[in-house]
Amino acid sequence: MLRVLFGLAMASFMAHCTSDKTAEKQGDKARPDYIIVIHGGAGTLSRQAMTADKEARYRAALDSALQIGESILRSGGTALDAVTETVAWLEDCPLFNAGRGAVFTHEGRNELDASIMDGRTHSAGAVGGVTIVKNPIRLARAVMEKSPHVFLVGPGAERFAIENGLDTVSPSWFFTQERWDALQKVLQKSDKTGDVSSDLADYKFGTVGAVALDRQGNLAAATSTGGMTNKRWNRLGDSPVIGAGTYASNDACAVSCTGHGEYFIRYAVAHDVWARMVYGGASLQEAAHAVIMKKLVEKGGEGGLIAVDKSGAIAMPFNTEGMYRGYARPGERKTAIFADE
Ligand code: ASP
Repeated sequence: MLRVLFGLAMASFMAHCTSDKTAEKQGDKARPDYIIVIHGGAGTLSRQAMTADKEARYRAALDSALQIGESILRSGGTALDAVTETVAWLEDCPLFNAGRGAVFTHEGRNELDASIMDGRTHSAGAVGGVTIVKNPIRLARAVMEKSPHVFLVGPGAERFAIENGLDTVSPSWFFTQERWDALQKVLQKSDKTGDVSSDLADYKFGTVGAVALDRQGNLAAATSTGGMTNKRWNRLGDSPVIGAGTYASNDACAVSCTGHGEYFIRYAVAHDVWARMVYGGASLQEAAHAVIMKKLVEKGGEGGLIAVDKSGAIAMPFNTEGMYRGYARPGERKTAIFADE
């Protein structure tokens, strides 16, 4: 009996936290010509705390980002180009915690992380802790395409950016007053242990990501972030870690995560979704939900993910109050923020 009640409670919780059932059922139908799914971070986003103006700005930004990716996919462009350009646009948008608008480290710097993966070739690129590269996602892509490596960090990654002609900026380019004020608030409260997890109550995740399926049936995923407010000691989260924050493989799915990165690294979240599908025979929805709504909930890891599978089905589960998100496919473009949409 208890088990039945628990099951019912869990089912209703999952239904509440899962967005857009209609979109997620797409897998039953024929594969759409293309589809792109994006996120702008998950976290404590309640309707009460959100002003109408702020909500409108976020929705407009998500919609613009989707249009960028969709126009590439509609005209036959690759999933890789769609996720690169969409994430680059979100990096330039100060509303999100990536590129301009990134959160600040304990020392008051912006250290940026990003990664990208091509589901067709399994090639991948990632960068961590860069401070002068305007679009870290373009640098991650350059690492993938122009270096023999997967993961570059810090000054070396920046040298590689300059050598490859990527746009660089003064670190002040990334400054926003809102993120600066958020750091000051956390510093005032901080017990000076440097434990970012102690600040989670104030933390609003804002990482950005995109996953796409193109007309050729190829999948790609990209993720970019400023990390977590008050991070120290060159901390890296999951976003630049292939298999944790980002994963793509044409045989199953493409995944981009957002949330408390330490948990996403420990449980190899993006790769776990893929593994449950390929080794366990789970559907995309089953795999994504099991990881975010069950495993991470049990372990105490807050966050969410977006994913698309090779048949064009999508999943956008999150175990936080909200997640900025949206998708576009032929004839349909939708954005959402809260859990009940
Ligand atoms: N996952 C990111 C990190 O831990 C944060 C986020 O998603 O907002 O660095």
